Amino acid sequence: MPWAEKIYSFYKGSSTDNALDFSKRSSFIRDIMLEKVYPKRIVLPMQMNFGVPAVPTVKVGDKVTIGQCVGAPRPGSFAVPVHSGISGTVTEIRDITLPNGIKCPSIVIESDRKRTFHQSVYPRQDVNISASKVRGIVKDAGIVGMGGEGIPTIAKINRARKSGVDRILVNCLQNEPFANCDHMRICETPEYIVMGAVALAGAVGVSRIDFLVSEKRKDDVAALQNAMELSAGDYSGYAFNIKFFRERYPQGYYGMIAKALYGVDLKEGETLEERCGAVLFNCSTVYACWEAISDNIPLTSRLITVTGETMESHNVIAPIGTTVSELLSTVNGISRSNNRIIWGNTLTGLEITDPENTPIIKTTPAVSVIPRKEIPVSQCIRCLRCVESCPEEIDPGFLYQLLRRGLKRNADEEGVRKCIACGICSYVCPSGLDLTGAVAACATELRGQQTRGKAFYAYSGGGRMDIGAVSLLETYEEEDYGEQVIESDDIVLPFEGGKNV
Ligand code: SF4
Ligand code: SF4
Repeated sequence: MPWAEKIYSFYKGSSTDNALDFSKRSSFIRDIMLEKVYPKRIVLPMQMNFGVPAVPTVKVGDKVTIGQCVGAPRPGSFAVPVHSGISGTVTEIRDITLPNGIKCPSIVIESDRKRTFHQSVYPRQDVNISASKVRGIVKDAGIVGMGGEGIPTIAKINRARKSGVDRILVNCLQNEPFANCDHMRICETPEYIVMGAVALAGAVGVSRIDFLVSEKRKDDVAALQNAMELSAGDYSGYAFNIKFFRERYPQGYYGMIAKALYGVDLKEGETLEERCGAVLFNCSTVYACWEAISDNIPLTSRLITVTGETMESHNVIAPIGTTVSELLSTVNGISRSNNRIIWGNTLTGLEITDPENTPIIKTTPAVSVIPRKEIPVSQCIRCLRCVESCPEEIDPGFLYQLLRRGLKRNADEEGVRKCIACGICSYVCPSGLDLTGAVAACATELRGQQTRGKAFYAYSGGGRMDIGAVSLLETYEEEDYGEQVIESDDIVLPFEGGKNV
């Protein structure tokens, strides 16, 4: 196995030895609890991803089962199917506004506590399938990027094929403080990630797979290496590499990976696929793809970290749509009084006030509980900590001052659109200024003006990286999967029929 010696990184950001306190993160993933959550009810939004909402296919009073499609895309729309993660009865269909601003219909399902699977959910006997069938499965299973933006995975696959990439990158670089569901996923089911990566490489039409791993995560590396070696005979046509990265927040971001790995600063509208010849998939997304292929189960649940500054992290497997209040009730010792509940990671998530009616969605990696501290807000003292930390090398303090005076055009000239809403500037600011809130909101607004009029709106709670939205839309509906007939020019994936993993 070829092992890379080099350790990749980008400039600035925050490492363990300057601003961010990572001290409570356990390096031993198996010390952290993994439990299953069986909620009494779920609230399933029809849009949980980059795109537009699906349309409910059930009505109040209908009985549903696990894996059943309850929301389907309108033909030709940039939506993905939604499936139930519990069995029970549809009790309500109502509009919901998610913390990130998405407004869409949602389906409320009360559990019958039977955990009955839909008849279509059964382990696939023959996984020796074509690349076009993989693409059809990924699309029908409603899989979206689970590490951030929620880009429909089929759109990414199709864009990568169109761009002529020569490799896939598997992003194992989760490095937000306290969140570690991706690491748990790697250590618990490395075979699924290796086989899912091979399937995605086949679907894209490439044979090179690079796993991007933190240099400090020796357990991740060992698990992946072991899974590769165990399966080596099955994948003789594929080249695996492990690329080591410095533990530095926000290293797992799309744009930071381009900087670290290729020395490329992606400009607005540029994509990793076109500029660097590679396509990036989060490791939990890769897992979901293999689960859909081998176990034939759509994206109905996810691993999520329940975490906070004063508690050990817990990783639980929860049906998509589980409310935050039910999720928190599964973890002992969480007090909600005088705590902020954050929908998402500690630095980038959004505070919520209605956990009873706020569900976790396909893209929610964590729910964080943080002590409410009243930090006195004062004037900027020009300490430049925000400038020294900003991974996009803009000046958050200066932008904040411009935006306070309403000078958006000047902020645009100063590069406000580059903000990826990583949250570091607010974290390090000794004056307690909400720099991220101001800068990221402006970035989102300016980018939104540019894309308005297209047949979609972005999934975004704050400023985010540019992900080439237009090219994603163009490629989403490119292929007619029909009956998923094997095409003669497809790559046939090298899996043994019926192999159990
Ligand atoms: S970190 Fe805060 S106080 Fe320091 S320069 Fe930036 S905005 Fe000003
Ligand atoms: S939130 Fe935006 S402005 Fe602040 S450090 Fe991150 S990228 Fe820079």
